[in-house]
Amino acid sequence: MISRKVILTGSFGVGKTSLFNQFIYQKFDDKYLTTIGVKVNNKIVEANGQKVSMMVWDIAGEVSQDKVPVSYFLGASGIIYVMDLSRPLTFANLETDIQFLRDIAPNGDILIIANKVDLVTPDQLVAIAKEVPLAWDYATSAKTGENVEALFTDMAKRLLDQM
Ligand code: GDP
Ligand code: MG
Repeated sequence: MISRKVILTGSFGVGKTSLFNQFIYQKFDDKYLTTIGVKVNNKIVEANGQKVSMMVWDIAGEVSQDKVPVSYFLGASGIIYVMDLSRPLTFANLETDIQFLRDIAPNGDILIIANKVDLVTPDQLVAIAKEVPLAWDYATSAKTGENVEALFTDMAKRLLDQM
């Protein structure tokens, strides 16, 4: 079975750890626990009848070079960039962050995620989508679990397609 590194990134508090916990343990916690260092977990995901072992990395800190060591991104086959729909500031660096990630992990597949969809109305979602410079791939909720499985299955498909 192939094994691939997938990293979670995006601003502080957007829900990276919550998406990770929902995906790995099917659990959600309202308490805010700052991630200390890096947490890595392995999950075997099936896509197109094939299995891929995803090593999902969850780190404290932000994308920009000075806050997260560049080495964190090296060797990543997949990058999950998370924004918070309830905090427009978390979209502010989207384009420069994505450019930075493409440069640092040129062979990695990047998914853009708009998380906390449970906190906005469908009308608000449409309005936000118009303001964001790049389209997101999935609007998710780590709280309700909406689209969490879909996002990781999509990533698994992309990892298998890379071969
Ligand atoms: P991280 O810093 O990106 O790892 O963010 P966390 O996963 O620690 O989440 C920050 C806060 O947002 C916590 O209080 C979570 O409970 C909350 N949170 C995360 N995802 C969601 C979501 O989809 N919906 C709601 N309502 N809250 C969320
Ligand atoms: Mg965290």
